[in-house]
Amino acid sequence: MSEGFISVKGPAVSGEVARILELLPQAWFIADGQGEVLQASPRAFEYGLIVLERIEEAQTRELIAEVQANGEQLERELSIPRTRTHADQTLLFRVTPIADGAVLVLIEDVTQERILDVIRRDFVANVSHELKTPVGALSLLAEAIQSAIDDPEKILHFASRMHREAERLSILVGDLIDLSSLQKHDGNTNFELISVDDLVTVALDDVQMLATAKGIEMVVGGTGNLRVNGNRDQLISALRNLLTNAIHYSHDGTRVAIGTRAVDEFVEISVVDQGIGIPTSESERIFERFYRVDPARSRITGGTGLGLSIVKHVCVEHGGECSVWSQEGHGSTFTIRLPNPDLNLQDNPNKENAE
Ligand code: ADP
Repeated sequence: MSEGFISVKGPAVSGEVARILELLPQAWFIADGQGEVLQASPRAFEYGLIVLERIEEAQTRELIAEVQANGEQLERELSIPRTRTHADQTLLFRVTPIADGAVLVLIEDVTQERILDVIRRDFVANVSHELKTPVGALSLLAEAIQSAIDDPEKILHFASRMHREAERLSILVGDLIDLSSLQKHDGNTNFELISVDDLVTVALDDVQMLATAKGIEMVVGGTGNLRVNGNRDQLISALRNLLTNAIHYSHDGTRVAIGTRAVDEFVEISVVDQGIGIPTSESERIFERFYRVDPARSRITGGTGLGLSIVKHVCVEHGGECSVWSQEGHGSTFTIRLPNPDLNLQDNPNKENAE
């Protein structure tokens, strides 16, 4: 017997056929009319369908019985509870009758594909919805301008609102392009050693006007002269998103701080605000695309709901992560953690002593 498959009740197919089956990407087993497994590939036992030599899972048993009764090949996707976790697994079964009432069952785990299908569908629905609002507003405002043709004041008012909606649309499209280019995973071809001080300066410069408009003081502190290995534009965009949020979700006249430091093998950049904070129950979900704690507020600030998703992707692309600490009503701290490329003995005297 080949090591690639397990013969439970003695071979139901010849060694040659079994070796061919072994080449298939799917798991497989052969069962008789009584639901006994005659032969199986090792992976067929991973799904919790077979216990000892019997098919214990009810839907699988029914499917096999159906094929045995009709004598015809059948393909069906079934959602089957996992034995160890609560989440269901989606398995694609192909069942074919072979000799003497026995059937060959091929199993493909398509759980991940189905989850991705749902995410993709939700994303398309969300994008359509998000685009519909400003596009609809633009169309209504154009009509309003047409009917206010003799009233220059009204025209100015509608035109400035049109401008705002067009800007919103352009920010949304820009964020979508950023996100899709990040999701291409085209490797770190544009990576270079970058000064963190430089990243902070550029990102701060980008948001300075926004901060001034709200009377928010921007403060920089921490360790200077740190470096990271990465894509400059992506890292600036991540920092800009965190700073923009810190300003948007803070009260006028408060303070936003940006701090840098080296911790263990990482460089940390933190953005601290004294703003409205985030309920603990929402702190995971805010990194999802289009998720907002308060959609109405986000609409007022012109947020796309994509900012933190972009931040998260940038961090992952750079081998790092982004975390949040927040207290509702008191403020939030977002921390980007990236691998430190300058980790060597001079920077880490403890390591020198240890060696
Ligand atoms: P948005 O464009 O809506 O700001 P983001 O993806 O940047 O989208 O953020 C998602 C949500 O997380 C926001 O709508 C807001 O509810 C919350 N959030 C993000 N940053 C902060 C912050 N600094 N303080 C409070 N809430 C925040």
